[in-house]
Amino acid sequence: MTTHHSSLSYLDPSRPEPWASFIEQIDRVAPHLGPLSHWLETLKRPKRILIVDVPIVRDDGSIAHYEGYRVQHNLSRGPGKGGVRFHPAVTLNEVMALSGWMTVKNAALGLPYGGAKGGVRIDPRGFSRAELERITRRYTSEIGIVIGPDRDIPAPDVGTNEQTMAWMMDTYSVNVGHTASGVVTGKPIALGGSLGRQEATGRGVYLAAREAGLRMDVPIAGARVVIQGFGNVGGIAARIFRENGARVIALQDAEATIANPAGIDVPAALAHVASHGSLSDFPGAEPVSEDDFWQLECEYFVPAALEGQVTPARAYGLRTKIVVEGANGPTTPAADDILRDRYILVIPDVLANAGGVTVSYFEWVQDFSSFFWSEDEINARLESIMVKAFDAIWRTAQERRVSIRTAAFVIACQRVLAAREQRGLYP
Ligand code: GLU
Repeated sequence: MTTHHSSLSYLDPSRPEPWASFIEQIDRVAPHLGPLSHWLETLKRPKRILIVDVPIVRDDGSIAHYEGYRVQHNLSRGPGKGGVRFHPAVTLNEVMALSGWMTVKNAALGLPYGGAKGGVRIDPRGFSRAELERITRRYTSEIGIVIGPDRDIPAPDVGTNEQTMAWMMDTYSVNVGHTASGVVTGKPIALGGSLGRQEATGRGVYLAAREAGLRMDVPIAGARVVIQGFGNVGGIAARIFRENGARVIALQDAEATIANPAGIDVPAALAHVASHGSLSDFPGAEPVSEDDFWQLECEYFVPAALEGQVTPARAYGLRTKIVVEGANGPTTPAADDILRDRYILVIPDVLANAGGVTVSYFEWVQDFSSFFWSEDEINARLESIMVKAFDAIWRTAQERRVSIRTAAFVIACQRVLAAREQRGLYP
């Protein structure tokens, strides 16, 4: 069976740099901030950037060096919070943008955090488990001077998972001389992880879609859903969409693009990926071309891979009612405008994918109090925070006649800049 190569060719030079997109999104908020806009420049400069060399001994005995980052974009409302990405396309520019989106996301949801993000420029698939452990531990040690349970709390992102977090927690703990479980979230349950954390981002994507659907009269039951990305976000979201009666008609991962108009059996696709490593050769669907994938008629389109995927050209072609951003930064500002002009509703990343960091917050609180909640309690609290944030952002969008993204940025920037103003500048 032939498979078509996906759009995850991340080195496309025609796409804007992620940080430029973030700055443009911030600029769009300025007219809505009143006197607080006085402080807006704060958000255009990361507070702190750490670039680290990550040297390891490879399995063949050679020495290799990798470049790693931790960017603390803003700490006005609390410690830094945001994931760590292991991917060959990681750059400082990208990590800066991702840290800025964390500032906005955490503030939009009302979580008591600033924004931060980290990354190492490696392709994790090119390393043995032992090498990945050495990279993770050395990277953690190098950024150890800026992270900590009350300073900056990493979590998983693209290319990292609960095992990565276990190594990070252990390395930091060994270096400080005591077990510090609150230094990272997304840990295994046995190490102070939270029930529901792993599927929280995908669950939140579903909740955001459901809330949008309620207001737009696009019921989830019977809806056609197309999802780009089939990892921890896209894969879980696909499963929950299907459990709620939607038909997932097309999927794309880094290796394959597949469709089945009758609806893909998502649990079977997840099982296939677990045993084969990708969607390639999944028997329950047919390969489709890249172009066709972006033009499939559907009710919900969920970009859940990397940033910069919804380009202007693709925005003209999309035949969907609602875009729900599972990834961070998947839609460029120019594409955002095209979708608006075409009356396609965009539920932005800083709202749609905030379920992950929301349950990270629950994990951190549970670690501090050493008292753990049931999964039902976690999912109920996640739903209540997501629905409340959705409602406030939706109302702001209506009142100010702006996009949902700009409304989320308005609410978030008001919170961050009010904190900045109340704290004042030192000296
Ligand atoms: N990496 C996830 C995000 O982009 C989760 C961050 C966290 O839990 O701190 O939101």
